[in-house]
Amino acid sequence: MTFALFNSTQHQAASLRIALIGKSTTSVMIAEDVVLSPKIGSVIEEVRAFGREIEIIWDDGVVLRTKLHIRGTWRIFRVADWQKKKRNLAKVVIQADDRIAACFDAAEVETHHDFDPRRHPLLGRHGPDLSDSRTGLEPCVDLMLGYQDADATIAEVLLDQRVMRGIGNVFRCELLWTCELHPWAKISSLNRDECRELVSIAAEMLQSQHAPHDRSLAVYGRHGKTCERCNGQVRVTHHGEANRVLYWCADCQTRHAGTSSSRYVTEHDTPPGVHPAEFIYLSELERARKSG
Ligand SMILES: [Zn+2]
Repeated sequence: MTFALFNSTQHQAASLRIALIGKSTTSVMIAEDVVLSPKIGSVIEEVRAFGREIEIIWDDGVVLRTKLHIRGTWRIFRVADWQKKKRNLAKVVIQADDRIAACFDAAEVETHHDFDPRRHPLLGRHGPDLSDSRTGLEPCVDLMLGYQDADATIAEVLLDQRVMRGIGNVFRCELLWTCELHPWAKISSLNRDECRELVSIAAEMLQSQHAPHDRSLAVYGRHGKTCERCNGQVRVTHHGEANRVLYWCADCQTRHAGTSSSRYVTEHDTPPGVHPAEFIYLSELERARKSG
């Protein structure tokens, strides 16, 4: 039966999405040595399942990968139901709001960053850190203008740690909306003034210490809601090599829309009124059926 392909790993991932996506992290415990730990307060953005592996991705690009093999499992608890004795058995415990996600018997647990140079040894050195007020902005503008892949989209470049550091996915979505930029615009279509405007606003946002997930967000997490600028509808899709979730308004983010790269098909674009977690679940179910 093709349906059997949609196995328990996908079901666990679906439960994790419903419990965690869009919530900020209250606490994290990882019972193994890992190279980096998800930050308290960062927003859980995605859960991906591949075979018997589950990855949880935070908005700053931190990825937690659990290889479940035969016995490993993720389970969700209400905080009130979480028993201390279980904590000792879990390899990973993540609390977000009133939910606990715990992973038991994983064969391997590791963390990495989406653009971790150790995972991509061909990548060069890190770019300027925009959250630091001492950082000069012109080198960052130069790196954008000289971006080696002229077909790359502006949405991808903003998360490329070689060009600039400090922009998590929440800020990326907000920044593109603020500048009315089409997320798929090719980086090569932006002139120096436009790059400078983008970098200046990014630095200002990052250095003003606004909590990235407060209620003043224009698009991030506002899927299906009305855009305050144009009364259009905020949409969510996936984008780029890392396939990160991207919130945007198709009605007013139109600058450089004509240059938009067709490299990434918006197959995950969510229809209005459907919760992103539900949509991802249904898309995976559909894919499992097709591949069977
Ligand atoms: Zn709009």
